Amino acid sequence: MADVGTLRLCVTLFATAGGAHQVPGTTVPRTLPVRALAAGVYVVLGDTGRGSEGRPNAGFIVTGDGVVVIDALASPAQGEALVRTIRTVTREPIRWLVLTHHHPDHHFGAVVLRGAGARVMAHPDVATGVDEQSREAAESAWTLVVGKAQMAGFRYADVPDVAVTTADTLRLGGKTIVIAQPWRGPAHTAGDLFVWLPAERVVFAGDLLIEDGVTLVVDGSARGLVAALTALAGLDARVAVPGHGAIPADPAALIARTREYITGLQAAMRRALERHRSLNRALDSLPPADEGRPVSLHSRERRNANRVYLEVEKEMMGLDP
Ligand SMILES: [Zn+2]
Repeated sequence: MADVGTLRLCVTLFATAGGAHQVPGTTVPRTLPVRALAAGVYVVLGDTGRGSEGRPNAGFIVTGDGVVVIDALASPAQGEALVRTIRTVTREPIRWLVLTHHHPDHHFGAVVLRGAGARVMAHPDVATGVDEQSREAAESAWTLVVGKAQMAGFRYADVPDVAVTTADTLRLGGKTIVIAQPWRGPAHTAGDLFVWLPAERVVFAGDLLIEDGVTLVVDGSARGLVAALTALAGLDARVAVPGHGAIPADPAALIARTREYITGLQAAMRRALERHRSLNRALDSLPPADEGRPVSLHSRERRNANRVYLEVEKEMMGLDP
């Protein structure tokens, strides 16, 4: 049994970080499902149909001169499964790990990728909105989410060797890989990057895209997310890999749906503020958050509405959020 302090901490992390809810003690399969998206470009498929609650997607690119991995999954055990999965496809050395952002479910396996030889490219802002918490506190809270067994051997490994704030390009073997944040400012988090293969027209979007179109902005901003989605749409990608869930048949449609959701929410909160509605009244029309499921669809909708109300209120007062 966790003590009350730990539970409160856990709830705080859930309430502020957009991590997936996974079942503690769940064993990780030896290898994970993998699918080729283009020559040398692979997605390691997470759960489908569970939105942000499922195991995330990851990816890797076999360049002919080493492997570039995209995201490291949610625990050292998952990182090990990821490496074994890569080894079913190639013996090339693992050279780089690129992180789409710094939420636990996307990088807590990074220590294993580093151990396998990867250097890390990521945004230097490792904050996930849990300012009041130390990284150690986030670690213990996350251990309650995935279970102790999966976390064996954990240490933080997401501080980048090569920091990317606007754009960088890896040219390795026959591949060109663009790692970029072409918009400005926090979107899903303070440190989002997408990974774009211009020749193959494949983008790994991280949590800028979720299969159900409801990206969390509680650790970022609606304004930033709209800018990020505009940049994503501008790529005209053939394949877009969301952070969680099924790969959409039509990438433009998922980007547009996400954008309509977030701009619709901004407009609704602006209307509520213009009518002097309180935050509670503005949230009245939404279903309640699911207790104990901080990143379920209803919880994401409600938490986003809360965040966007405050963001729009600041904008209307002329304060930069
Ligand atoms: Zn995330």
